[in-house]
Amino acid sequence: MHIVLIVLSPFVLITAAVLVQNVDPAQHKPDFEPYDFADTLANREYDLDSLIAIIGTNKGLPIGFEVAAAIAYSAYPQLKKVKIDMVLQPKGAPMEASMNSWSLLIPGRNNRQYRILLNDAKGSFFDPILLRSLPFDAQVGILAHELGHVVYYHELNVFKFGKWGLRYLKNEEFRATHERTTDLMPVYHGLGSQIYQYAHFVRKDSSTIPLYKKEKGFMDKYYMTDEELLEFSPWP
Ligand SMILES: [Zn+2]
Repeated sequence: MHIVLIVLSPFVLITAAVLVQNVDPAQHKPDFEPYDFADTLANREYDLDSLIAIIGTNKGLPIGFEVAAAIAYSAYPQLKKVKIDMVLQPKGAPMEASMNSWSLLIPGRNNRQYRILLNDAKGSFFDPILLRSLPFDAQVGILAHELGHVVYYHELNVFKFGKWGLRYLKNEEFRATHERTTDLMPVYHGLGSQIYQYAHFVRKDSSTIPLYKKEKGFMDKYYMTDEELLEFSPWP
């Protein structure tokens, strides 16, 4: 009986500490002026080494998408000291921001390791909207959305992160608020045109229309449409 209590009590305490947390699902505008990116970033020359000097050497760049990733990172100077990797994998959601859970338990925020997981499977249902299928500007836009999640996660302590995860999985409204305001993070960070181009491509390009017809309910509920994003233009 006592042993059971001793074993259970840390678990009960941690669960209680998670459940009492109050977590705001919304993303907010940062308190600095964003870098002024051009509305079209494709078809220019970029020096990857100069970009790496800006973003830090603690950033993983997915093979084949190095420049798009580096530009997206460069929009988030507040993440310069944060370790982030971008990993192409043959499974999963098209794109997903996650964290190495062990690193969550190490004291010190800057020891955390975040990962943007990018589905690169061949011949899957998601094919038309995977990173490799997107135009360059849309790639930058969606990677900037994923990095927006990292900014949010980095603000949370381990208990708040647990509560965020529970609410995100169980409450549709919470999830919609979180994802839709994460679509504004590229806008807030100077990449509004790029997230607009992503939202437009995944709904209106001839290659994506069949998928969009099937997934319209989900996509338009949880993510901002191109028309909705356009209301935030001209991009600051
Ligand atoms: Zn998201």
